[in-house]
Amino acid sequence: MIVRKSKGELETMREGGRITAACLRMLAENARAGVTTKDLDGMAEDFIRSRGGKPEFKGYQGFPASICASPNSMIVHGIPGSYRLKDGDTISLDVGVRYEGFVTDSATTVAIGEIPPDAEGLLSTTRQCLAAATEQMRAGKKLGDVGYAIQVLAEARGYGVVRDLVSHGVGRKMHEDPQIPNYGRPGAGPRLLPGMTFAIEPMITLGSYDIRIDERDGWSIYTADDSLAAHYEHTIAVTEDGPWVLTAA
Ligand code: MG
Ligand code: MG
Repeated sequence: MIVRKSKGELETMREGGRITAACLRMLAENARAGVTTKDLDGMAEDFIRSRGGKPEFKGYQGFPASICASPNSMIVHGIPGSYRLKDGDTISLDVGVRYEGFVTDSATTVAIGEIPPDAEGLLSTTRQCLAAATEQMRAGKKLGDVGYAIQVLAEARGYGVVRDLVSHGVGRKMHEDPQIPNYGRPGAGPRLLPGMTFAIEPMITLGSYDIRIDERDGWSIYTADDSLAAHYEHTIAVTEDGPWVLTAA
């Protein structure tokens, strides 16, 4: 069942979403060569708690940290640790904040120093995929329209659209129904209605869409062919007036 939120609940989620957005912005400013992902994790936890939020990832199914930090060919779910950022890296930073009983979930991919043109293109296209999906988040549209908007843009440029990881409903729980593939058929799937809230998160690669889970930690997910990956995410509400990006700056 897709849980619909009241106007008041959406406003609460927007307040939490502002904390999530500000945390991601702070992390992006601090992500530079020489900084470890564990450093970023500590900054994020302090930031979220100081604003009355709780880092939702910490302890989620045993996850040991407050953010996911996934460099280069790691797509998502990287555990912050001793990895030290260097010029030319890209890194997906993913933040979930619980605030007043509701979760908002957002991610960005940051370039560290200069990155090659093909990496720039991948990041730019993945941002455009999220924007195109957001544009579909309107009452009366179908979830297949959302996935299709991502897929058609990414595949037209020869990129891989990760299939084994999905966008999702979000609200009182980080993962609510439904799971939303980042590909799809126009006009297929559940109809969007006001009050629905989804975390839309295209994961796009320079190579194939197959994934590999790191068996050493059980969390980190890489592209199977070690090609570069990019990941952007917003928590978005469907409203009578169109899409409302709850994790916008
Ligand atoms: Mg996320
Ligand atoms: Mg998510």
